[in-house]
Amino acid sequence: MDILIVEDEPQIAQLIQLTLEREGFSCHQCHDGLKALQVVQEQQPDLIVLDLMLPGLDGLEVCARIRQKPGSKDPYILMLTARGEEIDRVIGLSTGADDYLVKPFSPRELAARVRALLRRSLRQAGQHHIYRTQHFTVDVDQRTASRQLSPNQSEALDLTTLEFNLLTTFVSNLGRVWNRTQLIDKLWGDNFFGDERVVDTHVARLRKKIEPDPTNPTFIKTVVGVGYKFEDSSS
Ligand code: CA
Repeated sequence: MDILIVEDEPQIAQLIQLTLEREGFSCHQCHDGLKALQVVQEQQPDLIVLDLMLPGLDGLEVCARIRQKPGSKDPYILMLTARGEEIDRVIGLSTGADDYLVKPFSPRELAARVRALLRRSLRQAGQHHIYRTQHFTVDVDQRTASRQLSPNQSEALDLTTLEFNLLTTFVSNLGRVWNRTQLIDKLWGDNFFGDERVVDTHVARLRKKIEPDPTNPTFIKTVVGVGYKFEDSSS
């Protein structure tokens, strides 16, 4: 497991590195946003500890660009923020970060968060599952998803980590009705601190990518007063 630490304050970067190396992870450091993008491209880390306030490109921008780039690996991103720093935007996690930690944090807290994120990825990798429905194929190991447009034609879907996990949750439980709390448990585990409505944001984004008409969804149906369910026939 390779971890990239993007933090412009050398002492904090060093503390993070020591903490994570003690956990047995191999770590690299870089100290500004542009360099981070380059290193991500070259080294394909499994997880990025990303400071929000950075010289050059800030953490939100770095995060957005990593998520836009369809790489072979979609790293987990743990965002670091100082109290009060645009924290609302980060908490919404609409940026593509998987979790966040507010400074100052203890080494123990950092290690726990990193382990939780990586456990999630190991669990997913350990499933060796490909889910196929009439219109979708989700390969959990490769972390790729595609939609069938016609019997001979499919398109690859370009999804963020959260969107991918959400789609996997749906296709692996066709027809199941989910409330927001259940989806949050599935997607964030115990590490969720935001507003339940964040689920709606991610559902809306996923609909835009997979629904022929997102305003009149065929697959992700709203269940009034409860939450959502995914409808497609199994194949
Ligand atoms: Ca900083």
